[in-house]
Amino acid sequence: MTTDNADQAQVKASLEEVVAHVNEAASEAGRDRADVTLVAVSKTHDAKRIQPAIDAGHRVFGENRVQEAEDKWPALKAATPEIALHLIGPLQTNKARLALELFDVIETVDRPKLARRLAAMMEETGHRPDLFIQVNTGAEPQKAGILPEDADAFIQECRTDLGLPIVGLMCIPPVEEEPSLHFALLREIAKRNGLEKLSMGMSADYDVAIQFGATHVRVGTAIFGSRPPLATTQAD
Ligand SMILES: *Cc1c(COP(=O)(O)O)cnc(C)c1O
Repeated sequence: MTTDNADQAQVKASLEEVVAHVNEAASEAGRDRADVTLVAVSKTHDAKRIQPAIDAGHRVFGENRVQEAEDKWPALKAATPEIALHLIGPLQTNKARLALELFDVIETVDRPKLARRLAAMMEETGHRPDLFIQVNTGAEPQKAGILPEDADAFIQECRTDLGLPIVGLMCIPPVEEEPSLHFALLREIAKRNGLEKLSMGMSADYDVAIQFGATHVRVGTAIFGSRPPLATTQAD
């Protein structure tokens, strides 16, 4: 096999393994497998590496940068229109319109200014992807997300004042902390606000997240392999 072929076979095998783990975690948690969506996070990886996952039947992908998604995904989506693309990285207000056109779900609504901009752009473009609100459960200064104590008011503002299609909450726990505390907090905020979807859990902890009610797990490394170190945290 050429190197490309070997890489592609590896992606397919890794995807199958992750899918099997998701099945197992859902079953152990007594949850319906259909209630857990695997978002395959393909950031930094090129179309050649993504294609085997599409060929294997996978349809839900995540990217963290608008520009990178614009470079890679229109062609892939044209070939496979059922693909659902999630934005999982910070969104600048000046890219809101483009993001509405490119993404089927935006998981990172994190501040009033962005929420207002999305509402205006939805009105203008007619594109209304499902939205998640990102909560900074660890109150980390360098991390995006609304603070837990501001979450209820922000959720209310987004839904009632702006009429945004908010379907759930998303979080990225601090790397050094026990993720389950953060998953539990996110679940609690969602519950008291009547929101059903929870995007939480990454390669290292998606099984725990499923135990705590994740409806969406965002898994990159375990499927596509490692990335250059900076790419994980950079925004546009
Ligand atoms: C990169 C990224 C992921 C995937 O992380 P892995 O550890 O590679 O699974 C999940 N969520 C967000 C927001 C990311 O930026």
